[in-house]
Amino acid sequence: MLKGRELGTFRQQLLAWFRQYQRDLPWRRTKDPYRIWLSEIMLQQTRVAAVVPYYERFLERFPDIHALAAAPQDEVLRLWSGLGYYSRARNLQRAAQEIVAKHGGIFPRAEKDALKLPGIGSYTAAAILSIAYGAKHAVLDGNVARVLARLRAVQGDLRDAKRWQSLQKSANALLDPQSPGDWNQAMMELGATLCAPQAPQCLLCPVAQFCQARKLGLADLLPARRKKRATEKIALAAAVLLDPRGHTLLLPPPTLPKNKAEHARVSVLVSKLWHFPTIAVRTDPAVELQAHLNDILLPSVTKLSLRLELLPAARHTVTHHAITLQPFRVSVTQLPRLPGAKTIPLSDLTSPSSLAISNLTRKAARAALASPAALSARA
Ligand code: SF4
Repeated sequence: MLKGRELGTFRQQLLAWFRQYQRDLPWRRTKDPYRIWLSEIMLQQTRVAAVVPYYERFLERFPDIHALAAAPQDEVLRLWSGLGYYSRARNLQRAAQEIVAKHGGIFPRAEKDALKLPGIGSYTAAAILSIAYGAKHAVLDGNVARVLARLRAVQGDLRDAKRWQSLQKSANALLDPQSPGDWNQAMMELGATLCAPQAPQCLLCPVAQFCQARKLGLADLLPARRKKRATEKIALAAAVLLDPRGHTLLLPPPTLPKNKAEHARVSVLVSKLWHFPTIAVRTDPAVELQAHLNDILLPSVTKLSLRLELLPAARHTVTHHAITLQPFRVSVTQLPRLPGAKTIPLSDLTSPSSLAISNLTRKAARAALASPAALSARA
């Protein structure tokens, strides 16, 4: 890697570029560790543009660690609703409670303490501690790894353990000890903008003269593409029960089974949030859902044949799961009373500030509301 004067020039050029061209993002206008931490968690696997409104809404309701720690979990999930990967929100709140209990409500400065918090790994700890406290920890995430791999023309799978360790060493060696927070953000910004996975814009790059991949004509080919995990298709069916007042029935977040495989199945099925009665479909969604409603949900009311009206399907992809949810509207004269369930106006589910529900549940609610029969049911 670079040394001496070359290293100095490299740092100077990248920092100058970042300070002039960085995107204006709300979490870049603060050094408050809570706000930086929140942004880092929300940005995991989520685009910047999607995060900004959630970040602002969340902070309006929970302006500091104490407010987050003391809130009902359901409210935290409600404000996270639609952002996906809900374990992030649960861990965030658990960590806030630990920080209040053990660190006086202040995000810990020591890396070893930060790493003990739920949801904080080495990347997140390095990002928060360097940006908020100026600590000398270099970040390494997918974007930074790609930049480093191109600078050094590294071949092969970057996630290979030895290669990843070597990239971390490079990141540590390049880190500017005078401005670790800006430095880390500059590396991330370069990876997120000019040094993008496809078609890197080397002509605009502030450190192009140091880039081995560019010299070798390999910028477009590195890093090597990872073998994609096969996509698993999952078919679900959900019942949007609707009474004559336009109210529907939602079931509470399920208690997760201890068995790991079953735990994963339930998580995919309903995202551990409030949900319509939902099943995983094997062959025929209408027949299987009808059987489920009769057997599980409505024994106290009726075993009569229910009319299931097909609504447009909703699709969603989470990691390697491609989920298709087939919703059905089921008009009933009276909603069943089930332990823990809620009855709620269906129209309340379409706004982002409603209950903690997944995007799929919201899409199913919108589909049911858009259908003419639903309108007549509410009239
Ligand atoms: Fe990335 Fe191109 Fe800059 Fe190299 S020269 S770091 S490939 S943008």
